[in-house]
Order: sequence, then structure tokens, then C-alpha cells
Amino acid sequence: MKYIVRIDRSSIKKNPDAGRTMFPMPGCWMPDGKGGMTRGVNMVYQMQPDPNYLAKNAYCEVTCAFCSSKFSHKDLEEDREYIYPDEDYYYIDNICPKCGQRDCCEIEYEKFDQKTGKVIEVK
Ligand SMILES: [Zn+2]
Repeated sequence: MKYIVRIDRSSIKKNPDAGRTMFPMPGCWMPDGKGGMTRGVNMVYQMQPDPNYLAKNAYCEVTCAFCSSKFSHKDLEEDREYIYPDEDYYYIDNICPKCGQRDCCEIEYEKFDQKTGKVIEVK
């Protein structure tokens, strides 16, 4: 059984920081020239500009294929597992919070077009 996590249409809003490629972050302490200390600001650059639109996922109840527990998709857990010590790891997705089985359900997330803010329907 495949579940579709839909986008909450009413939550879609324009991102006030759309297209932003840098943002200020508190930096190190330095003298403020008046005998005290003040915090400097570092500009942090990012490769990927901030998206045009923001949205939240709607609630989606899923059922574990192994233990039949019902819970929100947000309760699903993920983990990283090492293939060999000190080597690559891979993600284990959709772990049941009740019985701990991996891939306990199949989920597809609805997406939306960042240019128009319109949801791309999942069929
Ligand atoms: Zn389970």
C-alpha cells in the first residue's frame, strides 16, 4: 500500500527570503570600543538559493505492513547504517516507531512547482 503525503494547500506561502544566497549568523565576540564586548556578524553563503514558496505537509496516517500499527507519517523514523566500519553508510527509511521494522510502508511526497507555487498532483 502506497501512501501519498499531500501538501497542505492553505499552508503554501511566498517565502520572504526567496532567492536568498547568504544570511547573517552571529560571529565571534570582539571589543565594542566602549570597554565592552559585542558580537560580530558573519555572512554565510549557500549554493542553493532559498525557495520561492514554503509549504507544510498535511497529516497523513500510515499503517505498518508488519505490525498494523497506525500513526502519522511524521512518526516514521530513519537511521543510518554503516556497511563497514569507517566506510560509507546508507539511510534506512520509514522505520516503524512501534515495531522497528524498516520500510514498513511506501510513501510518496507531493511536490510543488517552485516557479508558480502550484501543487503537482500525484496520480
Ligand atoms: Zn510496525
